[in-house]
Amino acid sequence: MAGNWKMNLDHQQAAHLVQKLAWSLQDAKHDFDAVEVAVLPPFTDLRSVQTLIDGDKLKLKFGAQDLSQHEAGAYTGEISGAMLAKLGCSYVAVGHSERREYHGETDALVNAKLVAAFRHGLTPILCIGEGLEVRKAATHVDHCTAQLEAALTDLTAEQVATIVIAYEPVWAIGTGEVATPEDAQEVCAAVRDKLAQLYSQSLADGVRVLYGGSVKAANVAGIMAQEDVDGALVGGASIDPAEFASIARYRD
Ligand code: PEP
Repeated sequence: MAGNWKMNLDHQQAAHLVQKLAWSLQDAKHDFDAVEVAVLPPFTDLRSVQTLIDGDKLKLKFGAQDLSQHEAGAYTGEISGAMLAKLGCSYVAVGHSERREYHGETDALVNAKLVAAFRHGLTPILCIGEGLEVRKAATHVDHCTAQLEAALTDLTAEQVATIVIAYEPVWAIGTGEVATPEDAQEVCAAVRDKLAQLYSQSLADGVRVLYGGSVKAANVAGIMAQEDVDGALVGGASIDPAEFASIARYRD
């Protein structure tokens, strides 16, 4: 279960959230090996989150919401994979629909960012998903598998085996509009089939495929019951620690 905080919470609020989340999960005796829990705070919060997680030996993982495709140098405002790795990030989201929509990220740029993440040992959470027009035209499966294939260009099978893929229908992000569990399953299964076709069935079976889009404690169990859904990428609901802890505890 990964929580994408988006552009919310300063470094002090971030520390409070992580503490509350960790306490809720510890009280519930959460099995972190069975259901991994990760937070993706804004860049400015990462140092505080790292200090808390390392200092208190919390079992939460953390990562960033984006990275630069470049290594270093004259790229004002950018953050490199090396910087994230140095801070102890495990994960980095790549190709979130808000980056694609508001920052013009293309499939080629998403691919370059995946390459940069792997250069620094970060596990990318690759986001794919269709907009409302594509969904209405019923071409969403082809759209998502094409995004996937383009993003994975020239990556090795060893790299792809470790990637996390998040299917996030854009029309369901931050809208309160949730895809049905069957909608989530349809594309997550197609993602796995595409991986099997491009690489191997065993690789496809091992890759973690998440669903994202208005996931809450009230709807997570139905989504997680789907065969090809291994987890959730949670936006809005992840900045409420009690709600996010309940999402992580969907098996209760
Ligand atoms: C997201 O930002 O990845 C997301 C899924 O947002 P929300 O849960 O708010 O729809």
